[in-house]
Amino acid sequence: MSSHDIIVVGAGAAGLMAAGTAAEAGRRVLVLESMSDPARKLRITGKGRCNLTNTEAVPAFIDRFGRDGRFLRQAFARFFAPDLMAFFEGLGVALKEERGGRVFPASGRAPEVAAALVKWASDVGVTLAAGNSVSSLVLRDGKVHGVRIRGGTSYHSEAVIVATGGLSYPRTGSTGDGYRLAKSAGHTLVPTRPALVPLESRDVPRDGLTDLNLRNVSARVLVDGKKKAEHFGEVTFTATGLGGPIILTVSRLAIDAIAAGSEVLVQLDLKPALDDQKLDARLRRDIDQDGRAPFRVLLDGLLPQKLIPLCLNRLDIAPDKKLHQITGDERKTLRAWLKCCEFRIHGSRPMDEAIVTAGGVSLKEIDPRTMASRLVDGLYFVGEVLDVDGDTGGFNLQAAFSTGRLAGAAAAER
Ligand SMILES: Cc1cc2nc3c(=O)[nH]c(=O)nc-3n(C[C@H](O)[C@H](O)[C@H](O)COP(=O)(O)OP(=O)(O)OC[C@H]3O[C@@H](n4cnc5c(N)ncnc54)[C@H](O)[C@@H]3O)c2cc1C
Repeated sequence: MSSHDIIVVGAGAAGLMAAGTAAEAGRRVLVLESMSDPARKLRITGKGRCNLTNTEAVPAFIDRFGRDGRFLRQAFARFFAPDLMAFFEGLGVALKEERGGRVFPASGRAPEVAAALVKWASDVGVTLAAGNSVSSLVLRDGKVHGVRIRGGTSYHSEAVIVATGGLSYPRTGSTGDGYRLAKSAGHTLVPTRPALVPLESRDVPRDGLTDLNLRNVSARVLVDGKKKAEHFGEVTFTATGLGGPIILTVSRLAIDAIAAGSEVLVQLDLKPALDDQKLDARLRRDIDQDGRAPFRVLLDGLLPQKLIPLCLNRLDIAPDKKLHQITGDERKTLRAWLKCCEFRIHGSRPMDEAIVTAGGVSLKEIDPRTMASRLVDGLYFVGEVLDVDGDTGGFNLQAAFSTGRLAGAAAAER
């Protein structure tokens, strides 16, 4: 049985950061990774560009994680976005900031970030053993004494950091093993469900709209008739419903509400810059310009081509009706639809299409100052395996890096 000071389970963002931090502090660190190569998820983040953090200030940053954001306060106090940016720039990865404070490598290449992190871990002395899937923890007398891998080999250490990620995109290696390890140590698991995931709606036609991207729209989410969220930005139609940044952001709210038996509606305001009066003035102007043109021509100037059939279907106005014959009531119906194009949400795409996993190891049993288990001595949990998930925009990777940094330092100080 080989022995190390610290074993890290999983070579993703959180695990590599934890491992390198502990190794820098002089500890002998072994990282066991189930896939044949490390950091697979990191390589595909941000559509291959890796949105590694965000320049928002701490309070707003914490709000991005909802109620559980407070748990991250101490991890962020120790290692936050400016520290992470300085860290990668110190490794030679030039960074750039984009709209919404999102930070990317200047090269636009996520693999550059992953390669720099892996090289750093190796340079500071971490031993990485890829192709080794941890199957169980070695636990005795309320303490962790190491891990066992599939095939039976045991590795001894007095500290184990579980950094196995969640359940989303399992082909990158995150298959939920961390939850099983946590459960075996007596930890409570908050039920997992997909988050940052496209939503399904039977109101979206199955063909004709797929991949239509609407920019500068506003989306309201109503739960049992009450407005729960409203965001401005981009929505994309998918083969089975709605996706795009705004929809991903509201997906957790929608999924939880549906699970609780509520009715969830997404209402798109396709003309958020125009109030009812201005929109009516615009319609009147278009109608007056060519009253003999068919109704369809009016829609050509208002909507993307792909959306026109849906509009005609919902409005019940003949496409060839002459514009001068459009009644005031019909104009009102059109305005109402443009300002409130409604889709009932029936569910979400499955976990393997989710950007992150909501739920996981209960935060109540983790010390936020160290990421240590409150139940088992020497055991730590970091990254997505924890019951904490944030918005899109670089927030989730920062949480993974910050919790990893904290646990690596704390485990090294033991
Ligand atoms: C497509 C996509 C794009 C994303 N883009 C962004 C983005 O741009 N910005 C952002 O902030 N967030 C993004 N995220 C979310 C972010 O990638 C994750 O939140 C983050 O990677 C979590 O880091 P982690 O280290 O906790 O887990 P992971 O990165 O999932 O790493 C876990 C590692 O543990 C290994 N492992 C699992 N079980 C075992 C076991 N039993 N034994 C040994 N090893 C094991 C896995 O193989 C894996 O390498 C994206 C996610 C996806 C899916």
